[in-house]
Amino acid sequence: MKTRRFCLALGLALAPLCARAGDNGIPVDRSKYANREVLPDMTAGPASTPRSLVQIKGNLYRHTSGAGLAVHSGLVLITSEGAIVIDPAMTCTATWLRDEIKSRFHVSTKYVIYTHAHADHISGGQVFQEDGATVVANQRAIEPIVGEKIPTAIPDRVFDTDMVITLGGETVLLHRVAPSHSDSMIMISFPKYKALQCTDVGESHTMPYNDFLDFYYDGWIETLDWVLKQDVDVIDVGHYTPATPKDIRAEREYMVDLHQQVLDLVRKGQSWDQLYRNVHFSDEVRSWTAFDTMHTLNVLGMFRWVSNHRRGEW
Ligand SMILES: [Zn+2]
Repeated sequence: MKTRRFCLALGLALAPLCARAGDNGIPVDRSKYANREVLPDMTAGPASTPRSLVQIKGNLYRHTSGAGLAVHSGLVLITSEGAIVIDPAMTCTATWLRDEIKSRFHVSTKYVIYTHAHADHISGGQVFQEDGATVVANQRAIEPIVGEKIPTAIPDRVFDTDMVITLGGETVLLHRVAPSHSDSMIMISFPKYKALQCTDVGESHTMPYNDFLDFYYDGWIETLDWVLKQDVDVIDVGHYTPATPKDIRAEREYMVDLHQQVLDLVRKGQSWDQLYRNVHFSDEVRSWTAFDTMHTLNVLGMFRWVSNHRRGEW
């Protein structure tokens, strides 16, 4: 009995060290899409500069591209068995990122994870897939990738609600959240590093983009609430600079306030032309990056959502 208990204890102690590389995703028959039509790759142009791959903590890095605050970004985990890259950095930067990982860390990229099915984040997947990487996305991402003719790799593996990837003794957790910014949105957690990838739904003192694009208000708030329950201190939002939970709380407050103001004004019978002039923004929100260019578009996105999700007295 004692021996059995010892073996069990030893087994549990060694389990993390012996964790085998792999994942619990569902394989995709990519041959079905072999001759699919694709649009010209808007991200193919000359290599994007500046670009960087900078350390966040330990084996966790962040790729960025574009001038000023990062135009695009994603986390990268380097393990002894290969790299895990979140979003392939667009075709113009993907080749550089693939080669940079090889030359600096002497490993190839084993997994590329798509955060959601929008071309500005997932273009370039083919650069890694052709080099042997497994491309992973939520199963809901396939329809828009094919339907919108997005020029990137069709995923090799998909999942419904949750997926775990184990590589080089490291664990990465993928979770589909409520439809928020697209209905294929996933969050990717790196528990050992208290880090989270929350692309496009999270903001770091920055305005949400344009008229919210592919937007679901209630799922957006549900997703921010999910993020705020996670034990994380670094949140990469796919652009600009990483966010903290405090930034996410401020963003949630802004979204809820904007929704309520627009709903109240619509219920007062205001036309668009009246309404957008009557929405008020706090001094804090006015200080966020891109306030001047985005605030009226944000009102427009919320106006559309509110108009489509109410019925007056009739
Ligand atoms: Zn997006």
